[in-house]
Amino acid sequence: MITMDRSSPCQDLIRCDLCESPIPPLHCDLCHTNLCKACVGEHISDFSKKHRVVQFSERGANPVYPKCSPHSGKACELQCTKCDTPVCCLCVDESHQGHTLSSILKTYTAQKEKMKKDLEGLLNNLREYENRASEIDREKSYLDGEFEKLTMDVVKQGEKLHREVDIFINERKTEINNMKNRHLATLNEQKKEVLSWQSGIEQTMKHINEMLDTNEVCKVSAYKSISAFRNPPSQIHFSLPDISSQEIISEKFCEMFSNFLPLNLVFDEKDRTDEFIKPGPAATKQS
Ligand SMILES: [Zn+2]
Ligand SMILES: [Zn+2]
Ligand SMILES: [Zn+2]
Ligand SMILES: [Zn+2]
Repeated sequence: MITMDRSSPCQDLIRCDLCESPIPPLHCDLCHTNLCKACVGEHISDFSKKHRVVQFSERGANPVYPKCSPHSGKACELQCTKCDTPVCCLCVDESHQGHTLSSILKTYTAQKEKMKKDLEGLLNNLREYENRASEIDREKSYLDGEFEKLTMDVVKQGEKLHREVDIFINERKTEINNMKNRHLATLNEQKKEVLSWQSGIEQTMKHINEMLDTNEVCKVSAYKSISAFRNPPSQIHFSLPDISSQEIISEKFCEMFSNFLPLNLVFDEKDRTDEFIKPGPAATKQS
């Protein structure tokens, strides 16, 4: 159970043990129960136990001393350091003469003070954890934004790259088309020449056939034989480059994007002392 001063800022953590309403103004010092005004009646109507309802700030101020077993009815307000046992004033005279005795109340009060101090420390620690938790949330949304921007930049870079590739490919297509047209023009020229020669040869053949058919001596005598035949123009050879087997150098692409990799995480190392608390309800320090 958490107990603390009414003035403490931790007070809002305390609830009525019966109805859970915050900042209970009362406390039963014998049952160690926090109580609001509405629940106090219900609590003390449990006659199976003794109750001592006090103001919340007064809780624990009246310690319940251990009962003395040899002297029933007497409370042990002292602790014998030598025998390590609680003793009453009668015990001191009877069997603890000359022993070092300490006040149980003093130890009790000192322990309570320690608890209050620890509670303050824990509260400060809790605030630090709460701050860090909201800081982490802010860091997370910053991270989202930054990484989205990085992704967009990579996509934009990719689009630029695609445009460059498209422009390059279109230029090459135009070049190939011009090359083809030049070849085509040459072939058309040749074809024209070939057709013209073809028709010339056909006319000559027709003329010779007419000569063969005639019996006019002067015409036949005038015929001059063809000394040499002209061959048709030879085939135009060309070879096209084979670019399908060329490898694309993927390292070049990687280089363009390599400047932000690998991603490094840098921690702000603060002094983290775990000596005082460990998280969890079982954090009870014995001293
Ligand atoms: Zn209540
Ligand atoms: Zn009670
Ligand atoms: Zn005694
Ligand atoms: Zn003793």
